[in-house]
Amino acid sequence: MNEPTNESQPTPNQTQPAQTNQNKPALAGVCLVCGGGCAVGDTMCARCDGLMRGWLREYPSWLDSLHEFLDSTAHYGGRQPGRVNLPAAPTPIRLPVLDHMQAIEDAAIALWRRLYAPPAMPWADSMIHPSVLKCLSICADCNRLSRLPDIGLIWHDWERLARKTLGIIDVPPSKHGIGRCLNPLCGVELSAEVGAVSVDCPVCGDTNRVVDVRLGFLKECIESGRAFTVGECAELLCECGFQCSVNTIYSWRKRGRIQPAGRNEKGQPLYRLSDVHARLARHDVI
Ligand SMILES: [Zn+2]
Ligand SMILES: [Zn+2]
Repeated sequence: MNEPTNESQPTPNQTQPAQTNQNKPALAGVCLVCGGGCAVGDTMCARCDGLMRGWLREYPSWLDSLHEFLDSTAHYGGRQPGRVNLPAAPTPIRLPVLDHMQAIEDAAIALWRRLYAPPAMPWADSMIHPSVLKCLSICADCNRLSRLPDIGLIWHDWERLARKTLGIIDVPPSKHGIGRCLNPLCGVELSAEVGAVSVDCPVCGDTNRVVDVRLGFLKECIESGRAFTVGECAELLCECGFQCSVNTIYSWRKRGRIQPAGRNEKGQPLYRLSDVHARLARHDVI
């Protein structure tokens, strides 16, 4: 045969194994994000896929929160205990937040173009795109997202955005800050519903037990010498399995065994968690 052959194109009258692909044992694909196994033909595993679509679905509400933080009179982490609120901000609008919001919009539109604008069309760049919110929701539902050959880069760009966003915005009031993700490569501030047993990290996807996160937070506070009100000290210590009541701390104060390290803006005395914890560890209760 001198006719040029192409192995992937079997001639019609030949029965080629290529035509019975579906009956062959499926070779697992490799997730271009985490390197784990994934379905054949996909470039992303179910877990990485779920995280990415989760960020895209969360972003409309995250953008709302970011918008509130454009106002320099709002305080970063304002509802979390132990954060210091600066008395004055240098500019009326937070330019880094504005830049960050622009980066999110650009990324959403770029992702939509990547998925929907036909390649090699010179006019594609000027193609009218849907609103940012529409781009986010369309991309979150797009099947081709988990087949993109360059999803590794795109995924990590979105991870960086999500991490930065969560670092800026406050937690919703129904949730409260509990401490940091225990994944040493992540360490993002986590929040959980009151009474939750475990919490999934929105950045790295690890599932953390709330008690472990609280214990990590306790250690961090003891090491840093952070001070809290009597109620906050007792609450955190109890959550970490210590028997410590507000009255215990008050009685130590009366007996001069611990001293307040300062006062908060309401005038309540603040005690170093390290002092309270050291007292507890001595077992000389009351
Ligand atoms: Zn993966
Ligand atoms: Zn994490």
